[in-house]
Amino acid sequence: MIEEREKELRKIRDDIFRCQKCSLYKERIYPVVGEGNHQAKIIFVGEAPGLQESKTGRPFCGAAGKVLDKLLESVNLKREDVYIANLLKDRPPENRDPLPSEINVCTPFLERQIEAIKPRVICPLGRYSMKFLMEKFGLKDNVQPIGKIHGQVFEIKNLFQKIIIIPLYHPAVTLYNSNMEGVLKKDFQLLKKYAE
Ligand code: URA
Repeated sequence: MIEEREKELRKIRDDIFRCQKCSLYKERIYPVVGEGNHQAKIIFVGEAPGLQESKTGRPFCGAAGKVLDKLLESVNLKREDVYIANLLKDRPPENRDPLPSEINVCTPFLERQIEAIKPRVICPLGRYSMKFLMEKFGLKDNVQPIGKIHGQVFEIKNLFQKIIIIPLYHPAVTLYNSNMEGVLKKDFQLLKKYAE
């Protein structure tokens, strides 16, 4: 079972490295596959790599990543406990917003990652991953602006699984507005319950 998961995650990684389905690969230094615990109960999904991330191939290793680390620490979580991925695996030029066409071609990788890791809780970070994941899990009608929906807990049940989705603000908001730190910290408290 674990071997199968490792095999699939390696295959996803190789497929991402080979991917040329949108023009973002042309500026690629490294694609940012995602990293963390392959048995994680909680997966965080950011938007897209920034410059630091594309230079290192590691998600959230720049300024927003430092904020994320602090938030994880505030609920006694470490990066090694969770899995961190992004909607897009390559950096959009000048960190512009992801295009619908890029989201379309790139998100099958994220879907495969979620399928392989089978987390209990999915935390979209920011509006783009919130919208994509809510729609994917049949919550299209519940989509609201991130300022309204952050910190709400959605439970999806089907025959095989129960998944919790907790949309959160993107940690980078605190870099522009330090008042948001408290809001994110409070929302992160929700994760304590699912962390064991
Ligand atoms: N912002 C994101 O959404 N993802 C990263 O990996 C880094 C910054």
